[in-house]
Amino acid sequence: MTDANTRSDSGSDDRAADASYDAIIEASGRHARAWLSGVRERPIPPQASADDIKDRLGRELPEAGEPELEVIARLAEGVEPGLIAIGSPRFYGWVIGGTQPVALGADWLVSAWDQNTGLRAITPGAVAVEELAGEWLLDLLGLPPQSDVGFTTGATMAQFSCMAAARNEVLRRAGWDVEADGLTGGPAIRFIAGEERHGTMDLAARYLGLGAPITVPSDEQGRIRVDELSRALADGEGPAIVALQAGNIHSGAFDDFTGAIAAAHAAGAWVHVDGAFGLWAAASPSLRHLTTGYEAADSWSTDAHKTLNVPYDCGIAIVRDPAAMRRALGMHASYLQATEVGADPHEKAPELSRRARGVPTWAVLRSLGRAGVAQLIDGLAEAARGIADGVGALPGVEVLNDVVFTQVCIALDTDAATEALSERLWNEGEVLAMTSRWQDRAVVRFSVSNWRTDAAEVRRTVDAVARALEALEAERPPVE
Ligand SMILES: *Cc1c(COP(=O)(O)O)cnc(C)c1O
Repeated sequence: MTDANTRSDSGSDDRAADASYDAIIEASGRHARAWLSGVRERPIPPQASADDIKDRLGRELPEAGEPELEVIARLAEGVEPGLIAIGSPRFYGWVIGGTQPVALGADWLVSAWDQNTGLRAITPGAVAVEELAGEWLLDLLGLPPQSDVGFTTGATMAQFSCMAAARNEVLRRAGWDVEADGLTGGPAIRFIAGEERHGTMDLAARYLGLGAPITVPSDEQGRIRVDELSRALADGEGPAIVALQAGNIHSGAFDDFTGAIAAAHAAGAWVHVDGAFGLWAAASPSLRHLTTGYEAADSWSTDAHKTLNVPYDCGIAIVRDPAAMRRALGMHASYLQATEVGADPHEKAPELSRRARGVPTWAVLRSLGRAGVAQLIDGLAEAARGIADGVGALPGVEVLNDVVFTQVCIALDTDAATEALSERLWNEGEVLAMTSRWQDRAVVRFSVSNWRTDAAEVRRTVDAVARALEALEAERPPVE
């Protein structure tokens, strides 16, 4: 048996290169450890602007190069004040997860291996890991086991992938071959979505030439109204795609999948579920009820870089009918050593060449197991309830949403006061929660997405909000 590691008698160039990798990995590891060990206590918002950072890094393209170790040091030290502490357990901005250690380790291996993960024949190792991750995800999320799973840069591109399959399939059923003939002259597709859909659904539709959605009113928690959806479906004809939502970014609410999918399927529509963070509710026995009926949809998209806490970037596209996905995203060329039709990763994602971005997902699933994933999801939801209870009990604070999952929206008596609170929190730097508008009011939104947000961090969060409110109160001009 030949051992790949000892086969070549490496020349001195090879040895120098190996030494250079060692020194670089060691130095990068040291910088990474310094960042990670400080991330819990450092101020969460960035402390410098992009312009400042350019000055620190040096703006001129150097004529002569710089030694590699100096480049790494310059990068790590130069960029540090311009980084945001996304990994902090009190980071509640947008919907952004941190990174579990095992996922970080796996991600570094992905970079070191540098596998182009488009084709099974060239990297059976990376493909095997991603396929296992895909099978486990379908199992955990209770989705049809024969579905295709594609790893994308994020939920936006996962939505794009699913919607590409949807577009081709609804046109194919209408007798139109979009791959051959394009969209021009074909039947118009009605793309229907709730008024509180995520903006990236529009983006995915725009990339696909579908135009802006026909919007359907939502209820007070942001769930699509099924009666209004039925009306919208009846109000036209021809191919249709309906986008539903598992996890509203303001309320965390889940659409009524049973009702909405039945209505959409009765009208012959393809149903896509945007579950960028909410799909994970299905992996928890105590929260699974939120997703009841969603397995009847045709496609689902989610992120691993949010709730599962793998490093950026990893989104996941799931399509019930593998043939539809392959027709939309596959490509055939004589130089590609295709294994068999439908078996290669590039047929399930927009990219041909890409990193093995599904590997960290496998590592987290392997490390947590079914029970650990459920615990992770339950922990996030529990922390959200803790914040809603604690912050909601502070004077003048109103919790606007039913806290069913990981999102909490609060407001003070005026929009100006609500915005001042968020700004105060930002400036103090211990808790990051951003403003938004919901239910026609300014809100401060806590999105619990970090695996380290536990009861102690929730207490610190509530204390920080209490302090900010007291400071704002003290600043108010005295009433005559
Ligand atoms: C974050 C999010 C998206 C977009 O995901 P990206 O990973 O940023 O592309 C889509 N839908 C919902 C509900 C989200 O929360």
